[in-house]
Amino acid sequence: MSRARKPDWLKMRPPSGERFTDIKETLRDHDLHTVCEEANCPNLGECWSGRDGPGTATFMLMGDRCSRGCNFCDVQTGGMEPLDPEEPANVADAVAEIGLDYVVLTSVDRDDLPDQGAGHFAETIRQIKDRNPGILVEVLIPDFQGDPDLVRKIVDAEPDVIAHNVETVERLQWPVRDRRAGYEQSLSVLRQVHRESDIYTKTSLMLGVGEYDHEIYQTLRDLRAVGVDVVTLGQYLQPSRSHLEVSDYVHPDAFDTWQRVAEEELDFLYCASGPMVRSSYRAGELFVESVLR
Ligand code: SF4
Ligand code: SF4
Repeated sequence: MSRARKPDWLKMRPPSGERFTDIKETLRDHDLHTVCEEANCPNLGECWSGRDGPGTATFMLMGDRCSRGCNFCDVQTGGMEPLDPEEPANVADAVAEIGLDYVVLTSVDRDDLPDQGAGHFAETIRQIKDRNPGILVEVLIPDFQGDPDLVRKIVDAEPDVIAHNVETVERLQWPVRDRRAGYEQSLSVLRQVHRESDIYTKTSLMLGVGEYDHEIYQTLRDLRAVGVDVVTLGQYLQPSRSHLEVSDYVHPDAFDTWQRVAEEELDFLYCASGPMVRSSYRAGELFVESVLR
């Protein structure tokens, strides 16, 4: 592994176009935030417009302050506000107005709340489904400290995909993630969803934080063993100098190899793998293409 300058394949293309402007306006009208914008995601143009299928946008629920402080993440720690009881309806309205066919919901971690926000998350899923018949909803959920009753609240709201990110290999959980997160705890969330429902399960790994190939392979095997259906692999990029350093920039060919290993050898339904891939990268298009067809 070598520390290097950012390679050409990580250069961003700024999003543009009518659809992009429309979506931006609707979000402002409803005072809503998307991870796509907040994280300045390089895939925004591609995801929002949908290249060959449904467009995808990722809404961030429960505020922009997190109770945890992962060393790779740019979200601010502490200072969380009370939940906005109107948020579920607001998100459901915005989704209808934009005309999305596939929506991803995620949130900060809210360890400060009695149910860690599971009820609010579930209510948002229900309101989106009620207001937008036929829509597909993917949720990227916290670990809820491994509490099966809280995970069950999400399962009972019947989203189409439940994602929970393991983020990195077992050895590097700390220092990459907050100390309250953990490999086994994350696997238990995914295992529970697989055992208790027919909902598709999904997870993501960032590469370039110091992991070895054999550890990536073992992680993929562990994920399949608990029944995970879909995996995404992307390059970690350091949000600021105070965050975890990038260990190496993984070559696009290596990402292609991992995709083949995941799909052909380990039998994941699909694997999105590439330097710019993020958990929700073209989630709608890939889900329809790989799972529903
Ligand atoms: Fe960021 Fe999620 Fe970690 Fe919070 S729990 S700091 S939102 S990665
Ligand atoms: Fe939004 Fe996710 Fe696509 Fe980035 S990858 S633009 S966060 S939907």
